[in-house]
Amino acid sequence: MTEIGFVGLGNMGLPMAANLVKSGYKVTGFDTVPAALDKAKAAGIAIAATSAEAASGRDIVITMLPNGKIVLSVFEEIVPACAPGTVIVDSSTIDVASARAAHDMAGKAGLLSVDAPVSGGVGGAEAGTLTFMIGGSEAALEKARPALEVMGGRLVHCGEGGAGQAAKMCNNMLLGISMIGACEAFALADKLGLSQKALFDVVSTSSGSCWSVNTYCPVPDVGPKSPADNDYRPGFAAALMLKDLNLSQQAAAEAGAATPMGRHATEIYNAFVEAGEGGTDFSGIIRFLDKARDM
Ligand code: NAD
Repeated sequence: MTEIGFVGLGNMGLPMAANLVKSGYKVTGFDTVPAALDKAKAAGIAIAATSAEAASGRDIVITMLPNGKIVLSVFEEIVPACAPGTVIVDSSTIDVASARAAHDMAGKAGLLSVDAPVSGGVGGAEAGTLTFMIGGSEAALEKARPALEVMGGRLVHCGEGGAGQAAKMCNNMLLGISMIGACEAFALADKLGLSQKALFDVVSTSSGSCWSVNTYCPVPDVGPKSPADNDYRPGFAAALMLKDLNLSQQAAAEAGAATPMGRHATEIYNAFVEAGEGGTDFSGIIRFLDKARDM
């Protein structure tokens, strides 16, 4: 029976690990927060005393952690504990440089590894419908695939180590930009006396159509249900969007890529979060446009 170690049992990690248990895997988990361990135990996850213990003797080890620095410190602990041939799957959203360093550590110890950040949020984690963006070798992906398929509806192999993180941040930079653009269009329509329903009916079937309008419209009572219909409760919190935008700007600086719209979207989301709105859905930026007027 395939044994899985799982480090980082927070909002995303816990439901992902719980789905693995439900589909018959033996999962051993670790988190630094005792309350997370209590919930994990209730979901049928065996509890380890350290991340090294969670990783030791497992076929697959999954990490779902807040940032690159923490991922690398956890890799320092788990890599020596894993037997050769183990595949480590890092599903955290982190910077490309840290992802490549993590692959390096695993490779030097004879381990397989993939960076496999996700989109789909907590709802997708609970439903087992996440999209995984994967960087790493074919062999590493094939070993991890059955477990990834339990947690996600779609796997996209993006390339070698770090390519999953690169895809995630390019996607989310575009999403941040397009959401602000959608909000500006609806706010302008309103000032011009055009009904928001009429604008939705036009844009959603015209050249301005995009996910931020068609699926996740930032105004209430228009289009499919979205956080706008729930007073902008997340959804996808603005603080997480800002995290991803900052990662995109770090990557752009390192790679020498020009991303003026990405930079501007980062500045606007930064101001939104600094105004105390980090816990608001990222589409709630529509209520902040007047304050961003001169940015
Ligand atoms: P979270 O803060 O709820 O969970 C992270 C967990 O890691 C926490 O339980 C924390 O205690 C644990 N942790 C921290 N340091 C640790 C260590 N050294 N050893 C063991 N455990 C440790 O965050 P989350 O929302 O579950 O997000 C996890 C990752 O997924 C992040 O990188 C985030 O950017 C990404 N992500 C989140 C969402 C979302 O909607 N929440 C969507 C896509 C991607």
